[in-house]
Amino acid sequence: MSNLRFKSVEEAAGRKAVKVALPEERVEKYYGKQVFNRQKMFEYLPKATYDSLVKAIDNREPLSREIADSVAEGMKRWAIDNGARHYTHWFHPLTGSTAEKHDAFVEHDGKGGVVEKFNGKLLVQQEPDASSFPNGGIRNTFEARGYSAWDISSPAFIIDNTLCIPTVFISYTGESLDYKTPLLRALNSVDKAATKVARFFDSEVKHVSSYLGWEQEYFLVDEALYAARPDLVMTGRTLMGHESAKNQQLDDHYFGAIPSRVEAFMLDLETEAHKLGIPAKTRHNEVAPNQFELAPVFEETNLANDHNLLLMSIMEEVAKRHNFRVLLHEKPFAGINGSGKHNNWSLGTDKGDMLFAPGKTPLQNLRFITFVANVMAAVHQHNGLLKASIINATNAHRLGANEAPPAIISMFLGTQLSAILDSVVNTEGDASITVKGKEGMNLDVAQIPELMIDNTDRNRTSPFAFTGNRFEYRAVGSSANCASAMIALNAAVAAQLEEFADKVNARVARGEELNRAILEEDRILIKQSRAIQFDGNGYSDDWKEEAARRGLDVETSAPLMYDAYLRPSSIEMFEKSGVLSKKEIEARNEVKWEMYTKKIQIESRVLGDLAINHIIPAAIRYQSLLLDNVYKIKELFHGDKSDKIASQDLASIEAISEHISEIKSGVASMVDCRRRANKITDEREKAIAYHDEVAPNMETIRYHIDKLELMVDNEIWPLPKYRELLFIR
Ligand code: ADP
Ligand code: MG
Repeated sequence: MSNLRFKSVEEAAGRKAVKVALPEERVEKYYGKQVFNRQKMFEYLPKATYDSLVKAIDNREPLSREIADSVAEGMKRWAIDNGARHYTHWFHPLTGSTAEKHDAFVEHDGKGGVVEKFNGKLLVQQEPDASSFPNGGIRNTFEARGYSAWDISSPAFIIDNTLCIPTVFISYTGESLDYKTPLLRALNSVDKAATKVARFFDSEVKHVSSYLGWEQEYFLVDEALYAARPDLVMTGRTLMGHESAKNQQLDDHYFGAIPSRVEAFMLDLETEAHKLGIPAKTRHNEVAPNQFELAPVFEETNLANDHNLLLMSIMEEVAKRHNFRVLLHEKPFAGINGSGKHNNWSLGTDKGDMLFAPGKTPLQNLRFITFVANVMAAVHQHNGLLKASIINATNAHRLGANEAPPAIISMFLGTQLSAILDSVVNTEGDASITVKGKEGMNLDVAQIPELMIDNTDRNRTSPFAFTGNRFEYRAVGSSANCASAMIALNAAVAAQLEEFADKVNARVARGEELNRAILEEDRILIKQSRAIQFDGNGYSDDWKEEAARRGLDVETSAPLMYDAYLRPSSIEMFEKSGVLSKKEIEARNEVKWEMYTKKIQIESRVLGDLAINHIIPAAIRYQSLLLDNVYKIKELFHGDKSDKIASQDLASIEAISEHISEIKSGVASMVDCRRRANKITDEREKAIAYHDEVAPNMETIRYHIDKLELMVDNEIWPLPKYRELLFIR
């Protein structure tokens, strides 16, 4: 039987790949074309301005107003030469998306005409009327002013004829109202702390940078089918839909050939990304049908994050050109894999040494162990906080829900690294281990390079895995601003490294030899943090119990997970590292709870509407067809025979009635719960009510709708089904 039930399915099924005109030049010709990068700066800025700007960026110093004026002039000329008409400060408010307010370059020239104007003042700082961005109560509306201020470390770019200037967004009183401000602070603090520790091994290190390589997973759905699913349009996920008979069980999508229509989209997207200086590199099919991934070459964390946000927004635009919609939601479809955004994270010195990569000499290996041990300690101590940094209403479906890995942060190290750490710990007190400075350190760690090269035991179920020269933070959700995870991780590691440096220095001051002191402190950290290490199957039920025994955070409710931010240990860590003040943390939590509530509230309204106005009427229509049929049977046949023939239909009629009444009472109860929850004024309590009371109704309602989907005539069912959404491309 054909599954072409209505116009949109037919339309979608008939779509061919959109022809993409590849740029004629080679990629190095157009790469970064829309970015005010160093090459453009050199071309458009006076030599002295260029030198000062580059120096300020490299040394992470502020810029004088004079220089800013001169930069603005050059930037404007470049932008106008490249078709820009408007400029905007581009920032990342706590909504999780990006914000911009465009102004044209025009100013009165005093003679009735206009001049194209842009100066240092406009470049450096602006005051967007941003009173309606979430701020958790930091700004009351009477002091609604928030400032956006230029982030010189991330280059300006042109998109849709608008010059976009990456900025931080802060309140009148200096509190951060965005993701970028604390991210920059966290990167600074990890630079400072890691440099201190890196200098134990190499006194010439000046800076340590944090690197991020994200892997963006997403689904594509045909635009026509998408438009016929109000739940996808309004909430980004399907609130109902029975599993397709075939989904991912054959694993035939993973790394399979990319369909031509999708390939055309990817090509177009990569070209746009390259023009914006986003080093898109890898693309492939993911595990679920219609699920794909794009990963760039890793970059410095702040830049990488800007690039991810930029990519997410151009993805949507490019997808539309190909009659697709891109789904960035973590769990658009029940029963198949969700989408994450693995954050590959590492630290490296300005001399080019990667600090999580084993080296060639015993000293380099001691450094490797030291940094790994410190990360272990930080992740162990702050595992609840790290989980809070990646959780939200959407990622909660991917983490901690029925068919997802449990919401527990553990670390996968692999057999080789584990064995090395074991040997570091177990050789304690062994007289054969003598640490004699740079040379002659007689320790197993010298063996690491050969061992580590074969990095084959890759565990895919771990939320935080060591992968050879970096850590892969996999719990991050596909729609997230990576900054949230990167703030918590870099800040926690910074605080840990500071403490480590102090302890080592204290030992040295007491007369201990430096490397011996480092090794001793490494041992303590490794022993202390063993509970965070888990190389087994993170999806298993045993693990939940085991993790609880180990004292790891096993909280499964998103609103309660956010409490981790307010633990004294978290506040102390954030304040010490200068990343967030207590007031900022409290305000941000208010926003998190509020956002959680709003997301569930919207889902619940959409579900109620669909259930009552789409599903139940369709079910009743089918039921009355069956009833008609029964009447006809009764007219034609009599006695036992008629009963027998009609019995199947009668059973269906009854079952449909039951499902309908369950749906109706489910919706009524959900509305009731919502009403009660809406009266709560405390944001935390309200979010808890939405989690505990409102959301469970949605599961029940869905269950009965999905049952109906299996019974009701395919022609009558009002929504595109999973098999259509997932397999038509
Ligand atoms: P996989 O899917 O096997 O994990 P991918 O190639 O899809 O691997 O993605 C790996 C990501 O990790 C890429 O973005 C890559 O640039 C990044 N990466 C590689 N080395 C590092 C590193 N040292 N620090 C941070 N990111 C890295
Ligand atoms: Mg990966």
